[in-house]
Amino acid sequence: MREMIPKLYIVIPCYNEEEILEESLNILTGKLARLVSDGKVDKDSRVVCVDDGSGDSTWDIIARRSSSDNKILGLKFSRNYGHQNAILAGMLESRHIADCVVTIDADLQQDIEAIDDFIAKYMEGCDVVYGIRNDRDTDKAGKKFTAEGFYKLMKLLGADVIPNSADYRLLSKKALNALSDYPESNLFLRGLIPTMGFRSGVVYFDVKDRTGGQSKYTVKKMLSLALNGITSMSTRPLELIVVLGFLFCILALIIFVLSMIDWARGMVVQGWTTTVALLCLIGGMNLLTNGLVGLYVGKAYIEIKHRPRYIIDQAIWDGLADDVETATDRMGD
Ligand code: UDP
Ligand code: MG
Repeated sequence: MREMIPKLYIVIPCYNEEEILEESLNILTGKLARLVSDGKVDKDSRVVCVDDGSGDSTWDIIARRSSSDNKILGLKFSRNYGHQNAILAGMLESRHIADCVVTIDADLQQDIEAIDDFIAKYMEGCDVVYGIRNDRDTDKAGKKFTAEGFYKLMKLLGADVIPNSADYRLLSKKALNALSDYPESNLFLRGLIPTMGFRSGVVYFDVKDRTGGQSKYTVKKMLSLALNGITSMSTRPLELIVVLGFLFCILALIIFVLSMIDWARGMVVQGWTTTVALLCLIGGMNLLTNGLVGLYVGKAYIEIKHRPRYIIDQAIWDGLADDVETATDRMGD
């Protein structure tokens, strides 16, 4: 059980969200004010917008709103680093001041009223609170199918991912400090956070349709997230390659024996089709498995370079611009 009312920082990643950001900020600051007046969070709680290298007026909106409302803070990336890095930056920069952080998408598709439940779980002593969506009815059929398939595949590959847990969650200061010790660039928070342990809880929430603008998760971004998820959490595909290679060796042996029998019976020309088919198959398998190994080697290559996961270009942070700069340096270590 916790006694102290927490200082809550709500982190929202924003990528070309000019159509909806203004309204989302109205809703979130309203929600924060209610939480404060209900005595659920500290009056020094904030909303942190992380502009993930938007090409539109997203940053102008953040800058303007934060100049008139000190409850709104902003970080601006030097370019687009992706949703996962935007959330990470917001969380890591907030952890020095906040007692807990909730991350939520800028389109507020996730029900913000669930924040009360997040706080309640935090007060019960949880350090990690997962938001789990009630259903996927608002998703397009394609997204629903691929998302469900992905979670099944992750489970099969041995990664401990909680199905349908979006990046809508609460982390305590303790959990955030632990998260800051994970240096990987190949970031898949949904898989990473469960591996940290700590006392955790779940909160169920509804998902609405996007009220404006388009989904910023293009098919390419989604595929890259899924690939990151698999390759950062599991090396089982590499083990499967070995099994596959072994099976193909046995198959080749059987075929060798069969063709020797054919040869002994003087039927050498026959079986040409099988040979070609098998050649193609084995060639294909070779390419595929080499590619898969290459994928992991590539990821390892990126990791050993230790490049910063994001670079902050500008910050509106209670007048602490310098602190943010050192924070960025530190993350590049
Ligand atoms: N987003 C981001 N960087 C990106 C893509 C998306 O920060 O490169 C943010 C986006 O602004 C939103 C959140 O990630 O706040 C989720 O994106 P979106 O709502 O478009 O995804 P969907 O709900 O369709 O999965
Ligand atoms: Mg969305």
